[in-house]
Amino acid sequence: PTDVNALCEEYLRLAYQGLRAKDKTFNATLATDLAPDLPLVTAVGSDLGRVLLNLLTNAFYAVRQRQQQGAETSYVPTVRISTCHAGNQVEIRVQDNGTGIPAHVKEKIFQPFFTTKPTGEGTGLGLSLSYDIITQGHGGTLTVDSKEGAGSTFCITLPA
Ligand code: ADP
Ligand code: MG
Repeated sequence: PTDVNALCEEYLRLAYQGLRAKDKTFNATLATDLAPDLPLVTAVGSDLGRVLLNLLTNAFYAVRQRQQQGAETSYVPTVRISTCHAGNQVEIRVQDNGTGIPAHVKEKIFQPFFTTKPTGEGTGLGLSLSYDIITQGHGGTLTVDSKEGAGSTFCITLPA
């Protein structure tokens, strides 16, 4: 039995610290919106944590990239993680207001070794591994909703 909210808080901080360790000038707003009455889920905590770290690391990368591409001065890089439950499903959303994903790229992001990042910055394995962990490992789903130039939301559902 895993406390998903606790994992979300922990990995949001870890992912942010990871990026800031490489780039001390980077700042982002972290937001959480965690359901207080979330049921426990049956999960391998270290695997689910790895998925969250992948999604959150991608999210921070995307907001940093948008900022570096010369976003408007009012731009506030923001990564939000939220949880909720409906019926016997627990939902985790990782949302960023970064670069977004063009449609032709979106088709490929769950393929192993697909990356748009320069050598050394991405292996292209994060999302394919995350997809397997969530679907095969936990009987859940992993989907994405994204708008180019506006941001992306990755949504995990898990049986409660
Ligand atoms: P990597 O991060 O090593 O490139 P991933 O499997 O984690 O590999 O992601 C594959 C690709 O999906 C990324 O290179 C990027 O093009 C795209 N992507 C993933 N998450 C996001 C995001 N939050 N915003 C924009 N693009 C994303
Ligand atoms: Mg990645």
